[in-house]
Amino acid sequence: MGKKKRSLDRESGCLTVWGCENINDPSDRSPGPFGFPEEAVTQALCHHWRQPVQITEETVVYASAYMDRPRADAWAWPDVGIYLSSVWAEEMSLASNRWAGPRIGPSAELAVLSCPDGGSPLDEENTERVLAYGLRGSLQGRYVEIGCNAGHGRTGMALATLMILAGLDAEAAMVRVWECYCEFAIESPGQERYLFDLSKRLGRKKG
Ligand SMILES: [Zn+2]
Repeated sequence: MGKKKRSLDRESGCLTVWGCENINDPSDRSPGPFGFPEEAVTQALCHHWRQPVQITEETVVYASAYMDRPRADAWAWPDVGIYLSSVWAEEMSLASNRWAGPRIGPSAELAVLSCPDGGSPLDEENTERVLAYGLRGSLQGRYVEIGCNAGHGRTGMALATLMILAGLDAEAAMVRVWECYCEFAIESPGQERYLFDLSKRLGRKKG
């Protein structure tokens, strides 16, 4: 998977990178102790918690894996949280007409979007609308978090979606996600197809 993505990177060649820094450079990692292929070990060692990802020159969002979250009292909800795995709902207080839980925060807006593990959004229109809202919030200086369970497939796809909404074409967006976030992000042909379809529908041109 990684090899295919790196070759896409070479082909595009001229992608503009706005000062991003890949903190998951696999060359920094040593082979694992148990004889797993190095790539598998690298993937297992990947951690993503509120990792800044530059969507445009002016826009940064924070990407998180639910499995990498700190203990419960060590973090608070962001201004806008957009999650593509229902595991995040386990952390959210629910309100009913019998009992109202503690306030999540004065300004937190949280969305859990339906998207199967390794798949693409079940409600594409709603996902696009919510992510566009997150993009606007980020432009306004709000702290916007994007997350799924392991922080790779669905989170990578959502980050690329934000970039496409901001003007990049699908290929440039995916390469940017791999370079600026994690080379294991966007993990299935279905997720890539979703991004190519979105890019085409929005008329994004290969730049
Ligand atoms: Zn990773």
